Amino acid sequence: MPELPEVEVVRHGLHPAVSGATIDAVEVLDERSLKRHDGPAEDFIERLTGARLRGAVRRGKFLWVPIEPFASGRDSATDAPAEALVAHLGMSGQVLLRDPSAEAAALTRIRFSLTHPVHGALRVDFVDQRIFGSMAVDALLPTRDGAAAGYGLPLASIPSQVAHIARDPLDPAFDERAFLRRLQGKRTTVKRALLDQTLVSGIGNIYADEALWAARVHYDQPTETLSARKARELLEEVRIVLRRALDEGGTSFDAQYVNVNGASGYFSHSLRAYGQQGKPCPRCERPIVREQFMNRGSHFCPRCQRIR
Ligand SMILES: [Zn+2]
Repeated sequence: MPELPEVEVVRHGLHPAVSGATIDAVEVLDERSLKRHDGPAEDFIERLTGARLRGAVRRGKFLWVPIEPFASGRDSATDAPAEALVAHLGMSGQVLLRDPSAEAAALTRIRFSLTHPVHGALRVDFVDQRIFGSMAVDALLPTRDGAAAGYGLPLASIPSQVAHIARDPLDPAFDERAFLRRLQGKRTTVKRALLDQTLVSGIGNIYADEALWAARVHYDQPTETLSARKARELLEEVRIVLRRALDEGGTSFDAQYVNVNGASGYFSHSLRAYGQQGKPCPRCERPIVREQFMNRGSHFCPRCQRIR
């Protein structure tokens, strides 16, 4: 499942292609990919055809493209967009930027034909193998704290479907104090809390395991027993892990400009716990263990990460 760094690779690739582009045509090849759109496929197509796009924005693992208001005779740049095209990547969703003549990828569910003032004709394919992802046109609401809604554009408005998602820990408007207070007030365990997107967004199974390993915290540690100092340390390790993955994504990104691929290539060469079961812990050399956790796995060092 794509986490913050993987979704940022998609956003980063999409942003220059969609900023100022106009949607000429929308084809919905599989209506199941519109399950979060409030209306039939015809409505989705009608609301997007002819729309001008402002850029690509991300909060945590959520991605959206604000749509310029259709305000004839007015300077639309000064008007705040009221709607956005929201993409939920789910488990396997990909947003592929294509040359218009490129063959359609298998499992393409929605296809957009765009015209960009500089890059010319472009195609964006929403590809999703397992259809846990989806696209929708959604209303933009003002953010509660008045700060920019996410990374990519300075707009302080967020799609209604994303409004309940917490800011991610790399967001300049992330409220660290409120996060730490809510974390310690929760009657849960620490990894469940890290995966709770209403508490902190962008973290999935991979980077949760990596940050817990770095902070030497057991995934099943009850949150109320985590000291304030340990909680701050864990948050800092989350940031370090996410930033490192972003840096690696940034360096491998340029070659992907015409093939933005959110689902491929986790930044696996720097993983120290996730998927490393049986391999020595890079800190103490005791083998990393994998335990069943929420239908997936938790990877940790039984020596460095004990429940305290
Ligand atoms: Zn260890």
